[in-house]
Amino acid sequence: MKITRRQFIGGTAAVTAGAGLFGFNMLAESNFARAAGAEAGVKTFRNVCPRNCYDTCAQISYVEDGVLKKVEGDPKSTYTNGKLCLKGYNYTRRVYSPDRIKYPMKQTPRGSGNWERISWDEAMNTIAGKILDLKKRYGSTLPICMNKYSGNFGITHYGIEGTMSSIGYTTRAIGTPCWPAGIDSQTYDFGTIVNNDPEDFVNANYIILWGSNCAWTGVHSLPFITKAQERGAKVVAIDPVLTSTASKADLYIQINTSTDGALALGMARYILDHDLVDWDYVQANSIGFAEWADYVKKNITLDWAAEKTGIPKEIIIQLAHEYATAKPASIWVGYGMQRHTNGGQNVRIIDALGLMTGNIGKSGGGINYAHLETWGFNYHAMVMPAPEGSVGMAGPDGTHTDRSVNMNNFAADVQALTDPPVKMLWIAARNPVSQDPDTHDIIKMFNSMELVVTVDSFFNKTVEQSDIVLPATTHFEDWDVMASYWHHWVGVNQRAIDPMYESKSDVEIAMALSKAMNALEPGSCTYPTEGDPEEWTAREFNDGVYNMLGITDYKELLAGPRKAKFSPAAWADGKFRTPSGKFEVHSERAAQNGLPAIPIWVEEMKAPAQYPIRFMTPHPQHGIHSQFQNLDWMMAANPEPLLEIHPELAARHGIAEGDQVRVYNDLGEVTIKAHLTRTTSPDVIVSYEAWYKDSPFNVNYTVKAIPADMGKLATGMDGIAFHDNFVAIEKA
Ligand code: SF4
Repeated sequence: MKITRRQFIGGTAAVTAGAGLFGFNMLAESNFARAAGAEAGVKTFRNVCPRNCYDTCAQISYVEDGVLKKVEGDPKSTYTNGKLCLKGYNYTRRVYSPDRIKYPMKQTPRGSGNWERISWDEAMNTIAGKILDLKKRYGSTLPICMNKYSGNFGITHYGIEGTMSSIGYTTRAIGTPCWPAGIDSQTYDFGTIVNNDPEDFVNANYIILWGSNCAWTGVHSLPFITKAQERGAKVVAIDPVLTSTASKADLYIQINTSTDGALALGMARYILDHDLVDWDYVQANSIGFAEWADYVKKNITLDWAAEKTGIPKEIIIQLAHEYATAKPASIWVGYGMQRHTNGGQNVRIIDALGLMTGNIGKSGGGINYAHLETWGFNYHAMVMPAPEGSVGMAGPDGTHTDRSVNMNNFAADVQALTDPPVKMLWIAARNPVSQDPDTHDIIKMFNSMELVVTVDSFFNKTVEQSDIVLPATTHFEDWDVMASYWHHWVGVNQRAIDPMYESKSDVEIAMALSKAMNALEPGSCTYPTEGDPEEWTAREFNDGVYNMLGITDYKELLAGPRKAKFSPAAWADGKFRTPSGKFEVHSERAAQNGLPAIPIWVEEMKAPAQYPIRFMTPHPQHGIHSQFQNLDWMMAANPEPLLEIHPELAARHGIAEGDQVRVYNDLGEVTIKAHLTRTTSPDVIVSYEAWYKDSPFNVNYTVKAIPADMGKLATGMDGIAFHDNFVAIEKA
């Protein structure tokens, strides 16, 4: 059944259920806290939330007697606008959590829980000794593998890459788990990914939130969407799950999972048939449109689209007509829809909708996914020369390079390497034991290592499988500079408080390691051994960045974040970065990479007979991947994971509200408490991926490392089809 908002809020019971069901992450600005900032003895500092969130909030931290008292949104960023989400307001709980890792520690044996405090000297000497030992035994540092990604996106945190390059050529986990299929799809079409400034949503007359649960994951964009809505814009949410975001929409459309491309093709057929194409825009800005239009006319019918998507034909017609005529119209493509074996292809079809209706390059329009603009920072901390004579993967011209391994098939790919094998892992800003597919295989791979070093702030699942853990600073204890992959604001992280306990930043760890290695073997590590954290941050700037931000010195950012001088409407200049310089509806690059040249329908992955239920594991409300949910306030607000299950499906398995449910497939299993809800459909169950404190819960025991259809072009590796995960269930 398709549920519209009107239908959903129609009954008293539903309204009551909604009050409990739908939470929004936005909290009101605290005037009390702002007034407190003016109190004598309270110092304020500038910070930016670095934890892989769309919003990358500018923050003001309030410090009294060296203690971080509270954190607020910075009103100088018109995007953050003085507010934070629940997670952001929890930062004092994170900084002062009794669960923080306080000192370097070693665990003997690995996985035993038998931890012992050690000094930084002992930790660094042990690690340096092992690196040099492996180098001697194997003739290179390739047996050392780095796995680093998104726990902290600060620019000096790329010092982790610098650490590795400074010891020689190493093995690097490359790729990105979350969003690469979508990046590639837009790279084929536009040449790269660029979204409209999210503050530009206010100018839209029609907004489709397509697979985006921004009320949980990008909450600061919502006020701009709501303002447009108040002005009369219509907001449509398309999602297999009736999310908090969908509950705010004027129209909610529940779509069969992984059929977004079929809906977009149905819309395209209607738009072509009713001559609603913006021919001037298409002819001036694209190549290959006629070929695709021909495909649509010959192969796509509205009846087929309705059948495939589960959406009534009249709703598809309404959506197509409204989207094509209510200009400007904006689409926000969420990350979930591309986590399928046809996910990138589905995004390409949606891109073509934007093109054919002339909604690209317009304020209030766009097919908005994200951007990869780095504003020209130096990324100085990440680039260090390999020591003289280092051996790596030798190319035909005699040059040496690092060795790559697929982050998205990490366990299997690491275990397959033999010449030389990987013998040591360095893990930072990642939690693969919790977040990567096939947890059993990940742990097996860890067990084959001679040394596992993890840098983190909490004893998470990956730390539990490590030999040495090094305590990481939070962004209030460090200097850094932060940009967003969604909005256009840039700000600095000031060291607002001294590093807690014995924690160090990634750059400080790199310097300590360099000292230890050079003491054992002079010249074995090129990373500087001295340096001030603020200096490291200053070295990331250059005149181009200053010009982009309208400043002459990074210290001006201490007065507040700056917005990059960048067009608010992506592709307004019509200069696409494809080989042809046009929007490529026909992409030769896609064809060369074994993909359809044009955005045609590719069948979705079907459930196998023995595992007939799709198990979706989207982003949670109270955390970002495995961060935040473990904190005390978050555990109080959301004490345990739940399995969202439709009452019809539950009844078929004799499952009642609150029952424990065994969710399993041939890879593994997880047991979760049932929550019966009509927000999902009878063939889909949902549990939000996260790391809960003191809990064995981990959805990835059941998730296979199935590649999405795209990702290699822009990120080196295909994404993961996280949502093409099929299971069976039974009452536990
Ligand atoms: S988690 Fe996201 S929304 Fe929340 S404070 Fe951090 S950047 Fe802002």
